[in-house]
Amino acid sequence: MIDADKKPLPQHVDAVVIGGGTAGCAAAMHLANAGKRVVLFEQRLAGAQASGQNYGGVRQQGRCPEELPISFRARRIWDRLPEIVGHDCGFRPSGHIKLARTAEEFAGLEAWAEMARGFGLNVAILSGNVLRAEHNYLGSWVYGGSYCATDGHANPRLVGPLFARAAERAGVDLRECCPVAKLERDGAGFRVSLADGRSTRADVAINTAGAWGADIAAQLGETYDEHVLSPNMIVTEPAAPIFAASFGVCGGDIYFRQTPRGNVLFGGGRGISDKSRLWARPLATVSVQAAAKMIGFIPAVAHLAVIRSWSGIDGSMPDDRPVLGPSPSVPGLFHAFGFSGHGFQLGPAVGEVLADLVLAGHTETDISGLSPLRFTPSTIGAA
Ligand SMILES: Cc1cc2nc3c(=O)[nH]c(=O)nc-3n(C[C@H](O)[C@H](O)[C@H](O)COP(=O)(O)OP(=O)(O)OC[C@H]3O[C@@H](n4cnc5c(N)ncnc54)[C@H](O)[C@@H]3O)c2cc1C
Repeated sequence: MIDADKKPLPQHVDAVVIGGGTAGCAAAMHLANAGKRVVLFEQRLAGAQASGQNYGGVRQQGRCPEELPISFRARRIWDRLPEIVGHDCGFRPSGHIKLARTAEEFAGLEAWAEMARGFGLNVAILSGNVLRAEHNYLGSWVYGGSYCATDGHANPRLVGPLFARAAERAGVDLRECCPVAKLERDGAGFRVSLADGRSTRADVAINTAGAWGADIAAQLGETYDEHVLSPNMIVTEPAAPIFAASFGVCGGDIYFRQTPRGNVLFGGGRGISDKSRLWARPLATVSVQAAAKMIGFIPAVAHLAVIRSWSGIDGSMPDDRPVLGPSPSVPGLFHAFGFSGHGFQLGPAVGEVLADLVLAGHTETDISGLSPLRFTPSTIGAA
């Protein structure tokens, strides 16, 4: 709820969540469902930053081994969104095809598929001839590819806001347009202060502040090397169905999908942004390069008019993996930020994992490779 009349904050809650993207809203919802008193602060509108501005790829394919366990958990949740948030959020398990342009890239796909098989994920390897025979819209750039049938795509404009509404229904005190100005220790818990001077106390603090996550951590003395990532996105007018699967390409310089309404949505390269002003823009030169690549892979899109381009702001870590887990230096503080351009698919499971950590002190999902502890003690000061 937009906090326009600045109603008083609760004096004390069990948990405060800072950041109303999918991760924060899902965590808050699960904690409230478990009977916890939760207040969630979002500086603008819930789901309006990276969670609402992304490409909409729901893929397990291509992830590093450290991310696969939580990605699998997330994938199971995507099937259950209607029961969890009351809507399928446009999720279509269309399959995801990753394309290789060269023999070297193709060998990389084979190696990844072998690794994923060890985790129980079945990914088919397809030659260029087989791919072009099955997908006759593909252009001559394709050397080969890999196919994960359980991946797909969804509408990001629905996911975050629907988790926010579900959180409110569960009893979360959701405060939109409420930037957190200060997070500090207060006895064994925390005091959270807003820019207008209001404050509340909480036993537990959850940092789901996305690209601003390291700024929140820094307030309690922890330093993370989080940078800003702003992918360049483009969408065309709607067209008759051309392709169903979501596509990626080795190297990540182009990816594309066609929405259920017919718009061809593609991303490639980087836009520009200023996170202090929550401002992100695509770059026309980058969009033109991406469009040329898009046409190289699917020539039939050449005649479609581009109707919009945009960018967003995600946090990015040096090893391209999020920071997820208990703070190494502050008891009761939990981090989930720095999703490095691929946290949309993970978001619903990140919420569950955070709730596990708060409620049970551990989670069944192996997140050891995402732990804040992987950064050396010299970068994390004591609070
Ligand atoms: C253009 C683009 C394309 C992408 N494509 C994909 C994709 O296809 N597939 C995929 O898996 N991932 C993709 N991603 C990445 C994905 O969108 C993000 O990793 C994910 O949405 C992060 O979710 P989040 O909830 O952690 O962060 P966010 O959605 O950014 O939420 C964090 C929230 O914290 C709030 N906040 C920050 N500081 C404060 C404060 N002091 N007080 C109160 N609130 C605060 C922010 O306003 C924000 O709403 C893409 C990202 C972008 C930008």
